[in-house]
Amino acid sequence: MARSISRHTYLWCTECRRSYRHEDAPDDRCPVCHREMRPIGKFAAIARGLMANELVTPDITIRHRQLIRLIWTRNGMGERYYQALAPDVPYTKFEARVTELLERGATEGWVRFVLPAAPSASEGDYRLEFDSDERFVQELSQLFPPLAIPGSPPA
Ligand SMILES: [Zn+2]
Repeated sequence: MARSISRHTYLWCTECRRSYRHEDAPDDRCPVCHREMRPIGKFAAIARGLMANELVTPDITIRHRQLIRLIWTRNGMGERYYQALAPDVPYTKFEARVTELLERGATEGWVRFVLPAAPSASEGDYRLEFDSDERFVQELSQLFPPLAIPGSPPA
């Protein structure tokens, strides 16, 4: 899509029923649900948002979710899990679902995301830890049955 029209349009996610700025979705996919979005005019975005009673996901929440996704998928782990589980969904959807699962895990307390005190160049400073690997495997197998997980989860 031509960047020249970016300034005049927003991207609309039919799933989340909200609009995003182009700079918040560089690949034209919804940062929350990964669905492909289509550009709509600024006024249409405002009107639709009003009609949908726009569910605003704060930017900081979106960034947080992106960070979770980056942590568990780095070093090709996302692809490795995808290949191992061979789920019946496209990769982007798989990634979004596992990210959602880990987010819930963090809420429930069986996953912990470890972050450095300040931004770090060392990737190992960003990691996730499980209270029990079993719980993760269990949850994954509920999401994507049947299941064959190689080794341990990404740490
Ligand atoms: Zn969405």
